[in-house]
Amino acid sequence: MTATPPARWEGLTCTQRRIKDFTLDDNLPDLGTPPETSRRHEPVAGAGALEVLPIEILDEVLHQLDLRSLTYLRLVNRRTMGLVDALPQYSDIIRHASNALRGILAIGTGSWISCKALHTSLCTARCELCRDFGGFLYLLTCKRVCFLCLSLNDVLLPLPPSHACRKFGLKRHHLADLPQMKTVPGTYSPNRKNILRPDTLVDHEHARLAGINLHGSLAAMEQYVSQKQARMLEAYNARQTERDSSGRPVRARRRPPALDPLDGQSGNPHRFVAIARVPWLDRASRRVERGFYCGGCEKSSRKPCHWRILFAADTFEEHLANCGEIKDGKHCTT
Ligand SMILES: [Zn+2]
Ligand SMILES: [Zn+2]
Repeated sequence: MTATPPARWEGLTCTQRRIKDFTLDDNLPDLGTPPETSRRHEPVAGAGALEVLPIEILDEVLHQLDLRSLTYLRLVNRRTMGLVDALPQYSDIIRHASNALRGILAIGTGSWISCKALHTSLCTARCELCRDFGGFLYLLTCKRVCFLCLSLNDVLLPLPPSHACRKFGLKRHHLADLPQMKTVPGTYSPNRKNILRPDTLVDHEHARLAGINLHGSLAAMEQYVSQKQARMLEAYNARQTERDSSGRPVRARRRPPALDPLDGQSGNPHRFVAIARVPWLDRASRRVERGFYCGGCEKSSRKPCHWRILFAADTFEEHLANCGEIKDGKHCTT
């Protein structure tokens, strides 16, 4: 059952803004409808050693399995497909967050996201960073997030490996075990920026923690990075005034890249390559909430009345209490 804004708020809310965000799930291929006959045959093979486990233990094992392994297991034969499909959490994911599962498999983050982690995020209502209602999942680390955090917060901006190394004082081999993804070529962000080839991107927060761990502290990491950047700039500037033996200027090297290139925020396609819009599944009521927008905030771009904030019933009650009831399309504070 899908929740809608309660009738008492009719005319004060809307479920869509007139803009498309172009997230990862907008760039996944359309698989069409599966053939109806595909699951009607009885299994002819078993699940091997898994058959000796009591069903409760087997369910718990599958629940905690990473999504890539679970997907491979499901493809072994009809018996394993039946075991995975019967898992209640997997069934919830297929029903309400199949776009997130497909996104995770497409960008290659299924090895470190378990079925349990994705189901927990599906059943989490609020953004893990700001506690507003979160209408999206960040599929590099499976966090529930809101639009403002995914477009503004550094933690949710995946980085190219060269940028992560430069920014956090790391070498390439330090990134090997960190959560990373391959981009799916396509069109991303409300500004419709194209990504033409599959590039590797690393999770910002894990790279930052790896840098702090390597250098011993945040201060030591920042000092190492700023000193290294200063040395590179110094070498670059010295090169500009060098002359060869015939007195001609030496060909200039490329200027060292900035530690923080222009972000672009909601216009930065890298902020949308690991994002899927996923509703909140309320475990208790089994209702699904996609969130809705406030009609009184349509023209505001400042929190707590930003036009991009999604609400569920409880957060909308709080919003009206804090910002005032809505009259003639605006909040009234009197
Ligand atoms: Zn947020
Ligand atoms: Zn409002």
